[in-house]
Amino acid sequence: MTKVHNFSAGPCILPQEVLKKASEAVVNFNNLNLSLIEISHRSKDFVEVMENARNLVKELLNVPEGYQVLFLQGGASLGFLKTAYNFLPKGETAAYINTGTWASKAIKEAEQLGKANVIASSEDKNFNYIPKGYGIPNDAKYLHFTSNNTIAGTQFKNFPISRIPLICDMSSDIFSKEINVGDFDMIYAGAQKNMGPAGTTLYIVKESALGKTGNNIPTMLDLQTHIKKDSMFNTPPVFAIYVSMLTLEWLKGLGGVSVIEKMNQEKADLLYNEIDRNGLFKGVVEKEDRSNMNATFVLTNDSLKDQFDEMWQAANISGIKGHRSVGGYRASMYNALPKESVQVLVDVMKSFEEKYG
Ligand SMILES: *Cc1c(COP(=O)(O)O)cnc(C)c1O
Repeated sequence: MTKVHNFSAGPCILPQEVLKKASEAVVNFNNLNLSLIEISHRSKDFVEVMENARNLVKELLNVPEGYQVLFLQGGASLGFLKTAYNFLPKGETAAYINTGTWASKAIKEAEQLGKANVIASSEDKNFNYIPKGYGIPNDAKYLHFTSNNTIAGTQFKNFPISRIPLICDMSSDIFSKEINVGDFDMIYAGAQKNMGPAGTTLYIVKESALGKTGNNIPTMLDLQTHIKKDSMFNTPPVFAIYVSMLTLEWLKGLGGVSVIEKMNQEKADLLYNEIDRNGLFKGVVEKEDRSNMNATFVLTNDSLKDQFDEMWQAANISGIKGHRSVGGYRASMYNALPKESVQVLVDVMKSFEEKYG
């Protein structure tokens, strides 16, 4: 198989060894002569997978006592609504920071229950920066933000310091760097950006913060339903959870989040240095807010687009077309992307400059 350098923004690249183990388990799981996806989720073998996955999350992120780790369905997009149902009493107000497409969608869902007070936004500049210097109202029920803006290519380098509970959509940078889970009432993340395949969503929630809204919460949206049943209230997405578990094992084997954080910083530095050095390219977002996961950039001379596209395609690079709302290019450098792939992209950018600069 020719090596493809996969810069896809999501679903994203996963480690080769994870894909190999996952494919084996689909045929014969744990030498049961049965497939992972045809055994009972209540079987000992799968219950172990679920427990192992949850324990790996706790270990890798140093999750403190009092937090529950859940693997649910519905994507981060349902997380927007679950956030409101579980934390926003009907008719009351929560604070939101609007940093792009996903944050806007979260705001819209909060409006189903109460009021979303957008206390800061970067919409005025097509979300090309992270807002700073805003006040956080003490009477809002929580502050919600998106730690990494997958589409725009911005990332919070410092999280908001808040007296009200913090809730964060970390879909596209969870496990990419060290965080302090204890600062949050809830973190949630769709698996398919940095942890596994699409189909499961991770929730890390402070248990004592739940059950306080007085809302009449539909059973499946109530996080307490899933806590009581250890994420097995209904049939869990067994394959997505298994592959997530394998990826977390892989991450642990590398040395954990602090090690991958350094590797991710090196990859990001390598690419952004080239974007800044090379006169044919320009970054899209404010430098200090650049995402280490998704680098957005454009050509300084649009008429060379076909020539550049041909060059990166010839180098077996895949997935760097920008999101339609931003245009240009977006190179996503999630945990499993090797530094060599970034080097290949940088080399293409250099050859492009030699040829057309
Ligand atoms: C992809 C993404 C989502 C949407 O996730 P789904 O699992 O597809 O619902 C939400 N937030 C962020 C930051 C994302 O990158």
